[in-house]
Amino acid sequence: HKYVYDFNEGNKDLKDLLGGKGANLAEMTNLGLPVPPGFTITTEACKEYLATGQEPEGLAAQIEAHLESLERGMGRKLGDPDDPLLVSVRSGAKFSMPGMMDTVLNVGLNDRSVAGLSRQAGGNDRFAWDSYRRLVQMFGKTVCDVPGEEFEHALDDAKRAKGTTNDLDLDADDMRGLVDTFKKIFSKHTGREFPQEPREQLDLAIRAVFESWNAERAVVYRRQERIPADLGTAVNVVAMVFGNLGPDSGTGVAFTRDPASGSQGIYGDYLANAQGEDVVAGIRNTVPLQELERLDKKSYDELLGYMARLEEHYKDLCDIEFTIERGKLWMLQTRVGKRTAAAAFVIAGQLVDEGLIDVDEALHRVNGAQLAQLMFPRFRLDHEFQPVAKGIAASPGAAVGKVVFDAGRAVELANQGEQVILVRRETNPDDLPGMVAAQGILTSRGGKTSHAAVVARGMGKTCVCGAHELDVDVQQRKFTVGGQTVNEGDVVSIDGTSGNIYLGEVPVMPSEVVQYFEGTLDPAQADDVLVKAVHRIMSHADATRRLAVRANADTGDDAARARRFGAQGIGLCRTEHMFLGDRRELVERLILAGTEEEQEAALAALLPSQRGDFKEIFREMDGLPVTVRLIDPPLHEFLPPLEQLAVKVAIAQERGEDAAKEEALLAAVRRMHEQNPMLGLRGVRLGLVIPGLFAMQVRAIVEAAVECARNGVVAKPEIMVPLVGAVQELETVRAEAEKIIAEVVGDSGVEVLIGTMIEVPRAAVTAGQIAEAAQFFSFGTNDLTQMGWGFSRDDVEQAFFNRYLQLGIFGVSPFESIDAEGIGRLVRIAAEEGRAARPELKLGICGEHGGDPDSVHFFHEVGLDYVSCSPFRIPVARLEAGRAAV
Ligand code: PEP
Ligand code: MG
Repeated sequence: HKYVYDFNEGNKDLKDLLGGKGANLAEMTNLGLPVPPGFTITTEACKEYLATGQEPEGLAAQIEAHLESLERGMGRKLGDPDDPLLVSVRSGAKFSMPGMMDTVLNVGLNDRSVAGLSRQAGGNDRFAWDSYRRLVQMFGKTVCDVPGEEFEHALDDAKRAKGTTNDLDLDADDMRGLVDTFKKIFSKHTGREFPQEPREQLDLAIRAVFESWNAERAVVYRRQERIPADLGTAVNVVAMVFGNLGPDSGTGVAFTRDPASGSQGIYGDYLANAQGEDVVAGIRNTVPLQELERLDKKSYDELLGYMARLEEHYKDLCDIEFTIERGKLWMLQTRVGKRTAAAAFVIAGQLVDEGLIDVDEALHRVNGAQLAQLMFPRFRLDHEFQPVAKGIAASPGAAVGKVVFDAGRAVELANQGEQVILVRRETNPDDLPGMVAAQGILTSRGGKTSHAAVVARGMGKTCVCGAHELDVDVQQRKFTVGGQTVNEGDVVSIDGTSGNIYLGEVPVMPSEVVQYFEGTLDPAQADDVLVKAVHRIMSHADATRRLAVRANADTGDDAARARRFGAQGIGLCRTEHMFLGDRRELVERLILAGTEEEQEAALAALLPSQRGDFKEIFREMDGLPVTVRLIDPPLHEFLPPLEQLAVKVAIAQERGEDAAKEEALLAAVRRMHEQNPMLGLRGVRLGLVIPGLFAMQVRAIVEAAVECARNGVVAKPEIMVPLVGAVQELETVRAEAEKIIAEVVGDSGVEVLIGTMIEVPRAAVTAGQIAEAAQFFSFGTNDLTQMGWGFSRDDVEQAFFNRYLQLGIFGVSPFESIDAEGIGRLVRIAAEEGRAARPELKLGICGEHGGDPDSVHFFHEVGLDYVSCSPFRIPVARLEAGRAAV
């Protein structure tokens, strides 16, 4: 079995096996770019190691063979005392997980080879000992779990002793002293000496990278990003090149376009005389990449040439890590770069213009989650609000919240429902839970490629980084800026689009993309490249998609907004809100009615207001279908809660007041009380038990439609019966409804469909029978999930879903994204059997899943006719339906 691939054996399409980094290193090698030689250990080896706790058979020998060929190629031997080859050991999974897994540099250094390294570097002892102390530090921390602070404190002590705060002021002797101190720290924590044998260093580092796949922060990150937990990571072993050999060396990060806005140009950061981790950690301040032109024109021009080649080759924004070793440029990494939501749309549009991709491909380059982000509001700024400081706009959006200084507190307050802004000097992977919990992230150090920036962009969180004017004191839980002190709990507002930071709460305004969807911003007139790009891609999605998109809307206003957002009808009009407010009293009368006459009178009183509601909706949806669902929740939901009523009655009785009405109500509430109301008297059951209730609603719907028709409005009502489990239920309701329809419709020309929700598992598996009585099905995936899993939709997310997510029982709540294998299978069975029984059966879905990107793809694939979702999610559903179809 082949577990190890040389860089010249792989290519960019082998990401499953070689990870993103390994596959792209191979691709660059094959393109003839200057990549330091190396090899990749496959994700399969990692998976086997994690499953068995042992390296797979044959791996050691393959590593040996590839190491030998690497040594031959470089003309040096790993850790050779006189002329050592050093390697880096880098993680690299299929999907980029920035900073989440381990990397060890300078492997191969020991007490003897440090002298050889110095000679290689032209007698540069400082460099050699600095490299050695970095190895002990990184190896200690990542491979052997030595607490990183201990090394950092020792380094701070050494600088303090020297009267400096800059690493560069430490000389060779200081570094040698630090190596001693670091080795002592190492043995104190591990109970062994720092390993001197180069091959042992390599093997331990490889193992640590394998194991870092399951590090807690990596697990959290994967869950957040929905990366499957069983992919494993590849390990790249690469010959070291050094960016810290002096002022003619350095390291940097480059983007072929601006990952924040999508604008064309040269973007990146460069740090002279430094190694890669210095840039990403944001420890020292970088200079813009353009400066490199002045510092080293030859390397700069060469880099620009490679950037153009890579973009042309990958046909997308690439990000690149490079190192210059004494004037020689080395490409250390490239990948299709992460970008903000806005940049994704803008770049996709540009690439179409440039002829690099077609419009279908452009649809694949964006997604619904990104579109949703663009619909977030932005700050409404007037002169009242002056920024107190400006940092780097690292990830766009407008975030307002209480300041917190550590991840734990961020999580704690967020769990209490507070909005928080996590403020740090710089972030590291340990801050991840806090970053997830926060509205936004603010740091005082680090550039666009710092950990905070990269992770925030990936999560779509607002982030401002590198705000140097902020003096952050994490211990004292405060920061000062411009003479003002901001303590934990004070509110700040941060603008990830401009980098501005405001004290207090800045009001927010809707996004331009929303204004475009609302129809108040004409894309032809807009000078906003983003709006133009969104318009272009949405138009293509609409032209391509097979799924129609409808709205879940219960009022005229919602219906109007949904229509502006592109809804092609209403897929679910819940009628229960029509029983609230001052109509509650009529519902009480209905429930308390002692005789049939009283009941009829109560219903008759409800009818006109219901009819009015429906007319409004039909008017807004003129010409489009409107699915009205007959009342679903148990009636006692419209009555006051039992305890409240009991107390009221008791007090009235105590005071000797007349409480006859309350007493009757209390008796009714007691009578109707259910242990499991979601499984109780609701939906069609209610319609069958309280005669006249559904009949009143049907009459109101049809009368409204007929009145609209007489006024020139085309009303297309579809009456939907909830909670049906057996065809007999539907037949009974339908027979009654048809009588009313026939009577009311007359010669108005109104056509009324009768259909059912499929939301009880029994309905799904008897769909063939049910279709005999239904003109359409609409899947109620909320209840279908609830009843299919036996999970109370109102309780379980709080109660135990976190544990389930932690254990990987599912990667995302099945109430959020359709459980394709389980509940989805019920949908598939019902769709197939329903259509077999009645080929013209209309199929839709109106549960929450209708606006979830992954679920939309599933419903497309199952062959439904439409999805229905809340108005605000309609654009997302349109886009994803388009993406599903190309
Ligand atoms: C459903 O169950 O999916 C549904 C749409 O109905 P409700 O959410 O009102 O129960
Ligand atoms: Mg339901």
